[in-house]
Amino acid sequence: MSASTTVLVTGASGFIGIHVVRVLLKEGYRVRGTVRSLKNDTKCKPILECHPDAKTKLQLVEADLTKDEGWEEAVRGVKYVIHVASPFPNFVPKDPDSLVRPAVDGTLRVLKAAARAGVARVALTSSIASIHGHLETDNVTVYNETEWADLESPTLGPYERSKTLAEKAAWEFIKSPENASKMELVTILPALVIGPIVGTDFGTSVMSLKRLIDGSSPMVPGVTFAFCDVRDVAEAHVKSLTVKEAAGERICVCTETLWMQEVSKILHKEFGSMGYRCPQRKAPNFGLWFISWIDATVAMLMPRLDKVFKYSNEKMKTILKIQPRPIETSIVDTAYSLIDAGVVRKTSKYQPKKVEL
Ligand code: NAP
Repeated sequence: MSASTTVLVTGASGFIGIHVVRVLLKEGYRVRGTVRSLKNDTKCKPILECHPDAKTKLQLVEADLTKDEGWEEAVRGVKYVIHVASPFPNFVPKDPDSLVRPAVDGTLRVLKAAARAGVARVALTSSIASIHGHLETDNVTVYNETEWADLESPTLGPYERSKTLAEKAAWEFIKSPENASKMELVTILPALVIGPIVGTDFGTSVMSLKRLIDGSSPMVPGVTFAFCDVRDVAEAHVKSLTVKEAAGERICVCTETLWMQEVSKILHKEFGSMGYRCPQRKAPNFGLWFISWIDATVAMLMPRLDKVFKYSNEKMKTILKIQPRPIETSIVDTAYSLIDAGVVRKTSKYQPKKVEL
């Protein structure tokens, strides 16, 4: 990599985007990041402060996935693109197209502009949702990158559909004659991403942990999540740009699958003595059913009750040579960052700990 190698990161202001920018700057790249509005200080300020080199080596530009404007300029002169941006709401929208259109059309806008500009390789943020985002499971299978979510399944939600269709569209474009410059693609498929937040704005995935430490949940729903750490996710994106064997691969980033009760136990062990009440009892399913009528985030959990979804992390270890951080570290560091950022209140007994980025 030369000192002037520039990488475009779309969605630079998001939870994952900021960490990707930070790792790129740490590795010595120049970075151009897209945001929807340069006037949005809450979103732009944390990126400009994410690394000491941000002031000199990071340029922010405006571009929206739903519009053509800005993308030609955004890709000009860059060698690599990391396409992170995609809508990730914390509720299930009534109209699936509100997620599918920006995800699919936006991905094609970015890829087409990148191919025309002579970009060498694109790393696309997909999701385990595009491996097995539908909710039928035998509770034991470890799903891997050879599989695709079942688009015919009624249990595939709008977000999961948007990620699957966007990734499929990306692979189709890469194999099409329109990709005349033979630009390469690698897709990174993170599990539910947790880990330290930067700034006070954080994505949907960290919400699952926030509710276990902020005192708002008296009990824990009987659901599992496959987790991964945002620092591993960022490293995977950056490594995937230059590891030769990564080209043409789908690579899942996952630490392990835990019941939310296990997650809450880990939080209680670290924070219980500091005055944080992390719920330890499993919520009865019928109680959750009542709450789901008024709480959209609980409604999202209902189809997952009592189900186990596991995903392979073999390719992340063998191709990208990344060993996932211990899950306890990811969980505990997420909570420290939420407390330090003021998202969760500080108790009088709170003992801060330096979280390594
Ligand atoms: P996030 O914080 O909500 O970030 C989403 C990013 O996409 C934001 O920068 C957002 O811009 C941008 N975006 C959304 N709609 C856009 C549009 N129409 N035009 C331009 N930009 C748009 O969520 P995240 O967790 O970092 O997610 C980032 C990516 O990772 C997404 O592709 C998501 O599907 C994927 N992913 C996330 C997880 C997870 O657990 N977090 C797991 C697997 C995959 P604004 O800042 O302007 O809103």
